Amino acid sequence: MTAKVIDGKAFAAGLREQIKLQTAAMIAQGITPGLAVVLVGEDPASQVYVRSKEKQTRETGMNSFAHRLSAEAPQAELLALIEQLNTDPAVNGILVQLPLPAHMDEAAVINAIRPEKDVDGFHILNVGRLATGQKAMVPCTPLGCLMLLRDLLGDLSGKSAVVIGRSNIVGKPMAQLLLRDSATVTIAHSRTRNLPELCGQADIVVAAVGRPNFVHGDWIKPGAAVVDVGINRTDDGLVGDVDFATASQVAGAITPVPGGVGPMTIACLLANTLTATARANGLPDPE
Ligand code: NDP
Repeated sequence: MTAKVIDGKAFAAGLREQIKLQTAAMIAQGITPGLAVVLVGEDPASQVYVRSKEKQTRETGMNSFAHRLSAEAPQAELLALIEQLNTDPAVNGILVQLPLPAHMDEAAVINAIRPEKDVDGFHILNVGRLATGQKAMVPCTPLGCLMLLRDLLGDLSGKSAVVIGRSNIVGKPMAQLLLRDSATVTIAHSRTRNLPELCGQADIVVAAVGRPNFVHGDWIKPGAAVVDVGINRTDDGLVGDVDFATASQVAGAITPVPGGVGPMTIACLLANTLTATARANGLPDPE
């Protein structure tokens, strides 16, 4: 069997088109959504991500506010900037690009962002709201994975899902979203003992491990949906956490790397910014 290759790039382009129309409708009502992106230091991968976020924000018609701090900037300077953005009515979303330099306390910085402007969904209140079924800002990468899975499978209720990885930015919120959709969820991590067997029973496998080609085709249940979040830079170029060559022979559908989950992340960031803008102005959440 050869898997359907899920075209995240096309899906994300469609989502951005829809966001562009919704943004235009808001602008017509005198509201221009605004996203502030803060980059501390010169990490090359972060610089690429931030430039892409700013470009795509502008392309949808939203305002993009760029803020750059040096790698040596004291944490107090970053907190003062966040406070200024918190109170700026033109700013509906605030994103502080991670990772931060080692001298900064990541949790303290994230939790200084007003939860309603926390378009990354990492603030402890948004994490708690998602976990308790309340209206939250949902982290962009898992939200993008969920959209692809819903589009592919429809109702996820009763499906068995294995999420490999338990990070706060991908694995844990991914598991929460699948649970919210009534999937039966197993979260695997580096201490998990029988990972190939666990995967072999799953209708859905989401890999967020950070190890090139880690998940092999012989772990996958025939016909399963495989979502590869991994972005690993190797001598062979960019590869995912799933061994695409073998997994695509067994799976029913699979996301490629690149062109799968990656493009969905920024599209979901824009969707979250639109949602934050709607909520700040007493409008219903955009569909
Ligand atoms: P982290 O390093 O924070 O988490 C990796 C997780 O994988 C951990 O929970 C770890 O377990 C688990 N793990 C490590 N080794 C094993 C193993 N041998 N068996 C089972 N589990 C293991 O990574 P992130 O969640 O931040 O990112 C994961 C991947 O996704 C990376 O490749 C990253 O580049 C990519 N990514 C892609 C994005 C996109 O837009 N497409 C966005 C964000 C990330 P433990 O907790 O026990 O250490």
